Amino acid sequence: MEENKKKKVSFPHMGTISYAWSAALRIIGCEPYVEPYTSKKTLSLGTKHSPEAICIPYKLILGNFIEAIEGGTDYVCMITSPGCCRLGEYGKCIENALRDLGYEAKYIEMQLYDGIKGMYDFLKKVSGTNNLLLFSRAIIVAITKAFMLDSLETKLSYYRAREIHFGDSEKHYKKALEIIDKHDTLLGLKKASKLVDEEMKKVEIDPERNVLHVDITGEIYVVNDEFSNQNIERELGRMGVQVRRSLTLTSFLKDAIIPKIFRKGETHLQRAFRLAKPYLMRDIGGDSLECVSDVVYADQKGADGIIHLSPFTCMPEIMSQNIFPAMREDTDLPILALIMDEQTGRAGYITRIEAFVDLMRRRKRKNLSDNTAKKQNVEV
Ligand code: SF4
Repeated sequence: MEENKKKKVSFPHMGTISYAWSAALRIIGCEPYVEPYTSKKTLSLGTKHSPEAICIPYKLILGNFIEAIEGGTDYVCMITSPGCCRLGEYGKCIENALRDLGYEAKYIEMQLYDGIKGMYDFLKKVSGTNNLLLFSRAIIVAITKAFMLDSLETKLSYYRAREIHFGDSEKHYKKALEIIDKHDTLLGLKKASKLVDEEMKKVEIDPERNVLHVDITGEIYVVNDEFSNQNIERELGRMGVQVRRSLTLTSFLKDAIIPKIFRKGETHLQRAFRLAKPYLMRDIGGDSLECVSDVVYADQKGADGIIHLSPFTCMPEIMSQNIFPAMREDTDLPILALIMDEQTGRAGYITRIEAFVDLMRRRKRKNLSDNTAKKQNVEV
């Protein structure tokens, strides 16, 4: 046990996921090693040692691993799944790349599509023990934190679009993250949930502000990772746009990890099969099916637009982008497709987002005045 406590274990970043896995590792007696958040340095390390045409999540994950190993971690852990895209090969390629670079840290995989069993097997390997009770606690606490983190991000988006002082909601959001991080028991998290709400309510907002509502979809990594999407949600918030994401860590957990008896309602993937049907009949890998269905969902829910984020050369998302023109025949919902890679320049990126927001505002105004005119005609 003493030896386990000394083990430093690290995962790659993706949004706020580190808060969830850190808790699980602490509970089983390991020391989470959270490498610095993904940065330009991470990108250049990953790019330097990756095949040129591989997708950006691979490069950033490799960069995270290199930084973690150089920072002194003993284990680097990777989430893997079969998948019909390159994700199925990621694990082996990363392991080989690290070995070729001469890094000593142990590489461990967590098989996502083995569900809870995959998580148990992973915790067993990493801790070197087999304590079912402790592992159950670790999994439950990590999943509970993941739900709290997603709900906190939804709140952040609401407050950010309405805040009176720029940056205020993010300041309180960071404090709320610290609150979540401090608690590793279910009772503690229950208390933390109230404190988090209170913290976010401190943000001074203009509740009457006329905000736009935009859905964000795309490949799960770039949708949830603020470095690779150049913090698109902050930019949109600054422009008075509230964002909704269906592709989240918890939507993924519901589909891949949480057993049926413990979840309520339709999952994102189930919804995707239902809504994407007229355009895409089957899962073609990555998050393509979900992306196509998210456009239908955004339209049905009256969103002002949808933004699709995809890594350059991502095969499933190239397919989604090729389906959007057919979807545009059935809806006038504005769709903006953005492709991300290490070459994506910030100025051009922001200009495209600003132009899109402008288009959505004009469309909303026009729809409002058309509706008013229709109403007046009926009354006359
Ligand atoms: S979904 Fe796209 S970005 Fe993700 S691993 Fe597959 S090809 Fe790469």
